[in-house]
This record gives sequence, structure tokens and C-alpha cells, in this order.
Amino acid sequence: MIDPALADTIRRNLEAVRSQIERAASTAGRPPSDVRLVAVSKTFSAEHVRAAAAAGQHEFGENKVQEALVKVAATADLALGWHFIGHVQSNKSRKAVGPFAMIHSVDSLALLQRLDKHAAEEGRTLDVLVQVDLAQEETKFGLAEDAVGPLLEQAGAHRWARIRGLMLVPPFSADAEASRPYFRRLAGLRARLLEGGCPAEHVGDLSMGMSHDFEVAIQEGATIVRIGTAIFGSRKAAAPTRDSPLEP
Ligand SMILES: *Cc1c(COP(=O)(O)O)cnc(C)c1O
Repeated sequence: MIDPALADTIRRNLEAVRSQIERAASTAGRPPSDVRLVAVSKTFSAEHVRAAAAAGQHEFGENKVQEALVKVAATADLALGWHFIGHVQSNKSRKAVGPFAMIHSVDSLALLQRLDKHAAEEGRTLDVLVQVDLAQEETKFGLAEDAVGPLLEQAGAHRWARIRGLMLVPPFSADAEASRPYFRRLAGLRARLLEGGCPAEHVGDLSMGMSHDFEVAIQEGATIVRIGTAIFGSRKAAAPTRDSPLEP
């Protein structure tokens, strides 16, 4: 049984986020259906996930494998799609393949190869994105901009883990406009890769934009936005800090 007040809050938040997505897309002259919403449920309970699912949300994002596995099991009666948006530790790559439809955070050829091998063993395909670190922050994961092309050239050899696009977490700033140059650079990188002959199916998606800056991301071409706080509320356990903006 979902708490009715919780269900109501999440439903209203989702409606607000969806209409913001629609508005941002039309401002940019894009069809709203171009943009997939991944509801980031990290640190929140399976009950929160159920409430969002009841309000029509079917794709969820998690950043810790263990935590995700518990939630996936607790909602196994619902047909949900799970995205992994955190750093994949090498000893967790097998488990990461398990329930996830898409992994947003591939940042090395070695990881791509491991995921490909695990997916092959399970006889299933896995969509992955290449996480790009445009700011080259020491604390952040991701591949340097000029290493993306070479990785994509190797990608064709992998049949099970298939690269579908690029993902970005810009340096945190409360000001959404501060993210715009990063979003624009990621879109520019994609355009250059396409010009350089990279198959469109490998760079179809741009996963960028979070609660505070997703409208800007959509204006700059995001096809996937990852939104937690605006749907589920703030993650109280440990509020985001300047040093670790993404730790739950
Ligand atoms: C937590 C997280 C999000 C969601 O952030 P909100 O600010 O709560 O919307 C998006 N992307 C990644 C990679 C995250 O870790």
C-alpha cells in the first residue's frame, strides 16, 4: 500500500517535470517525445518507485548496484526499465549488467569489454553511453573529450554492449546557465563524431540535465534527462555538497 500523500506529491511533481520538459522542447523546436525522462530514485525506497510508476513513470535511474538490486527485486511485478548512472566498479561490472537496460557511465575500453563479455554470457544486449568529463575535474569520472572518438572506433567490435550515445555531468552550479556551455560542447562533440564518420546509432543519445538544469539541457539537445530531486524531493541523508555533488 502506497502512502496516499506520498503518491500525490510524486504524481504532482512528475506532472510538473513533464510539462517543463514539453515547454523546453517546444522552445527548442523539438518534439517532446525526443526526450526520455529517467527518474533518479537513488536513496529513495521501492515505495517511492511504485508511486512514480503508478503516475506513469517507467524508467528509473540508480547509482549504486547493490541498492538498485534490492529495489529492482522489490518492484519485480512492475515492468520497469532501469538505468545505471553511477560509476561501475570493476568488481561490480557483472552485477551491473543484471537488471539494467542502459548503463550511462562507460568511461574506458576495459569496462566496455567487460560489460560486453557479461552481456554475451547472459545472451542479451545492453545499451551503454560513454560518460564524458569535459571539465577534467579530478573528482569526477568520465573520459576526456579527445579519447571519445578512439573509444567509439573500437565499439563496433562489441556486439552485446552497444554504445548508444554520450553522457555528461557538468560541474555543479546552482545556476542552470552555468551548465549550458558544457551541454553545448557535448552536442558539438557528437556533431564532430558524426562528421568524422561515426555511425549515427552510436551517438544517438545525449544524456544530460538534472533537476536544476534539465530545461537548458533540452534546449541544447538532450535526449535523456536524469531527474531525482524535482520528482522525489531532496535526498536528506546527506545533502549534496560542493565537494561531492553527486553522492547521495
Ligand atoms: C543523482 C544524480 C542525478 C539526479 O540529480 P537531481 O539533482 O536529484 O535531479 C542525475 N545524474 C546523476 C549521474 C546522478 O548521480
